[in-house]
Amino acid sequence: MRKYEDLYRHKGLRNQLINVLREKGITDEDVLDAINTIPRHYFLDSAFDQIAYEDRAFPIGEGQTISQPYTVAYQTQLLQIKKLDKVLEIGTGSCYQATVLAHLNARVYTIERQKKLYEQNKNYIFKNKYPNLKFFYGDGFEGLPTYGPFDKVIITAAAPFIPPKLIAQMKVGGMMVIPVDEANGGQRMLRITKTGENSCVEESFELFSFVPMLQGKNG
Ligand code: SAH
Repeated sequence: MRKYEDLYRHKGLRNQLINVLREKGITDEDVLDAINTIPRHYFLDSAFDQIAYEDRAFPIGEGQTISQPYTVAYQTQLLQIKKLDKVLEIGTGSCYQATVLAHLNARVYTIERQKKLYEQNKNYIFKNKYPNLKFFYGDGFEGLPTYGPFDKVIITAAAPFIPPKLIAQMKVGGMMVIPVDEANGGQRMLRITKTGENSCVEESFELFSFVPMLQGKNG
């Protein structure tokens, strides 16, 4: 069960988390403000209430996890979100990352392949606050061709390779932030900028650890 009560204590813990994220090198004030505003504990089972603001990933069911706040901040900062950017997210999971993007006034299209996790968001707590967030059940490798092209694409699971269909669904000038499997373990965070219809520039960042991006739908 999730519990929707944002107490003074939670707000204090969020403030401390912001300090941790600053110490780890996050500098984008809009991203920090989103994380400071959104009650992360709303996206977790109430059993995690006491620890929801630790900089850790937690289980959300179906063998999946809510990303670590540092990872959410890092990916969001790399995406350089602008108001009304059309953003495709692969891996809705708890919907915490998608909510951060929605708070930054992006138009968010998020896809989840696990039916149970997708259905959990039918009761999304911030439905009225963020009408700019839309949920889809499907395979992220396919993207959402009828809704594209997108300004930004974010993948929140460990990708075995850069999905070509997602590159095709990006606008020229658009960016993708994606953790790609490394030969000796973990994932390298990459930012791909589409510089022309058939050209991209790739930048390489830190190593992270994600649950796998899997082919097809489940359930
Ligand atoms: N952004 C999420 C992170 C969840 S973990 C959050 O903030 O909580 C990654 C999620 O990606 C999992 O829920 C997993 O089921 C989903 N996933 C993995 N492969 C996928 C695919 N091919 N298409 C869509 N979702 C996928």
